[in-house]
Amino acid sequence: MGDTNLFSTTQIVDPAQILSDAEIRAEEITIRRLVFETPLDAMKWCARRKLLKNTCDCDNCNIPMTCSLNSRVVLDGYQWICKLYKSQRSIRKNSFFENSELSLEQILVLVCGWAMEYPQDIISLEAQLGQGSKTVVDWYNFCREVCEVHFMQNEIVIGGLNEDCTSKTVDIDESKFFYKKYHQGRWVDGHWVFGGIERESRKCFLVEVPDRTEATLAAIIERHILPGSIIVSDGWRAYGNIQDIGGSMYEHHAIIHHENTGVFLQNLENMWMRAKYRLQRQFGTSEALFCSYLHDFVWRNQFPKSQVFAEFVIMVAAQFPVP
Ligand SMILES: [Zn+2]
Repeated sequence: MGDTNLFSTTQIVDPAQILSDAEIRAEEITIRRLVFETPLDAMKWCARRKLLKNTCDCDNCNIPMTCSLNSRVVLDGYQWICKLYKSQRSIRKNSFFENSELSLEQILVLVCGWAMEYPQDIISLEAQLGQGSKTVVDWYNFCREVCEVHFMQNEIVIGGLNEDCTSKTVDIDESKFFYKKYHQGRWVDGHWVFGGIERESRKCFLVEVPDRTEATLAAIIERHILPGSIIVSDGWRAYGNIQDIGGSMYEHHAIIHHENTGVFLQNLENMWMRAKYRLQRQFGTSEALFCSYLHDFVWRNQFPKSQVFAEFVIMVAAQFPVP
């Protein structure tokens, strides 16, 4: 337990211990490393990664509040206290953790489980929630919501130019996603998804579309593919005028039957296979969540699997700023 009982300070950690994004990316975090001896250790872990405020000024008197032990604060054990006005403030206020009745450690374990694609029943046990807990579903949904908000604020764009000013190549295609209703075992009407994948980086975008008309697809191409790209598609007629989009921003190659289609097909097939596999495994109950599963896939597809948790921590810190 160490100095737990003596801990009372205007800063949770020495500001020099707060990690930069590059330092967070360099960490090798696993679920085991998210087991803390005390709630205070979990608080410090979060403060170092900008997930919790490290210092807090009082709204009333503008002086630094003190992070103090209070046995009535059941989950964290600590709260911010202003000695002058005796006002108090939760250490979680405005943070990613606000409104939850789980400990910081439990939440971190759940988020790490989502990032590493642990099955929900396993992570439920790891987070000590017991079997069949609905809490895991809620947190996995919340993590996907963070990805969705991220894409509302930062549209994903691929393609453009390489450093040597040559064009990057983006393969585009549409595909219908079918899935089984979870409890009924029957197939229901699918969703049309339009997507593109950059050959150089394998970064992709996927968008659910109401139809596959030229107007619909051209608008998405313009939004997600940078000028200067080479766009490769099949011979679908809606792709006939890609070279004219936005005043000739793109070079277009249509691959017609019997041509050498190797890289094009491989790239796309790989993307559809991975996206469909992931959605089929995880998505099944709620029609309304289809789009959030697509965003989840596109977001995590940008990173190697081992980096996903670190990138999520960085994204949360940006979305829930704790200055
Ligand atoms: Zn005060």
